[in-house]
Amino acid sequence: MARRLSKAFDRFSTIVALRAKLRGRGMSAFQLKEAPDVTVELRRSARARRLSLRVSSLDGRVTLTVPKGTPERVARAFAEEKARWLQDAVGRVALPVPVVIGAELPVEGRPHRIVAGAGRAARLGPGTIEAPPGREGPVIETLCKQIARNRLDTAVAGYASDLGRPYGRITLRDTRSRWGSCSSAGNLMFSWRLALAPAPVLRYVAAHEVAHLAHMDHSAAFWATCRALCPETDDHRGWLRTHGSRLHSYQFRTPD
Ligand SMILES: [Zn+2]
Repeated sequence: MARRLSKAFDRFSTIVALRAKLRGRGMSAFQLKEAPDVTVELRRSARARRLSLRVSSLDGRVTLTVPKGTPERVARAFAEEKARWLQDAVGRVALPVPVVIGAELPVEGRPHRIVAGAGRAARLGPGTIEAPPGREGPVIETLCKQIARNRLDTAVAGYASDLGRPYGRITLRDTRSRWGSCSSAGNLMFSWRLALAPAPVLRYVAAHEVAHLAHMDHSAAFWATCRALCPETDDHRGWLRTHGSRLHSYQFRTPD
């Protein structure tokens, strides 16, 4: 675990970049002596009454909020006391994986190694994605959007025809809170990161949103319709609960 963590941090050379960024916001960062892989961002707050530690479940960032005027020595000692707990908590979070040459990215649930290619666009091969070095993130993002668009258009058309309901536009976004949504006008929205999930999981999300064309709630009637369209609904929901956050860990663009 420790090696995995330090590798990810090396790749970002986080501590250096982070310190510079935080200084601009009146914050600072330090590494724990007892857990050198853990970087703690120190935030001084006029409203804070006590010292509190938070580990982001999205990216494993550790923030220590302290009342204004708390000496850094006190803040550090507080974090050091919780070093073991912090190390465990950070280890449980899916760490950011930059989409770069050499990294592995799942496409439709299957691992693909990103390799340098000569073309301008990303090319999907069996087990590899060829992409132009330096531009690999954005071009692979475009590829994922194309795959998601293609698969979702087909799945939605099929389920809507099974259900006998018309639908509006299909849009793709990079949403964190939900995999899809359905408006009262019948327009559907999906996360293009579903291109990374196994194909049956993407199809389940399509079936789920199509079922909302008949029921705009999560009532028993809704779930009956959803299961009629996609009998493995419960398995795929379970997959998203367990693995969904990992799909968000792939970083196609350099964080600013
Ligand atoms: Zn729903």
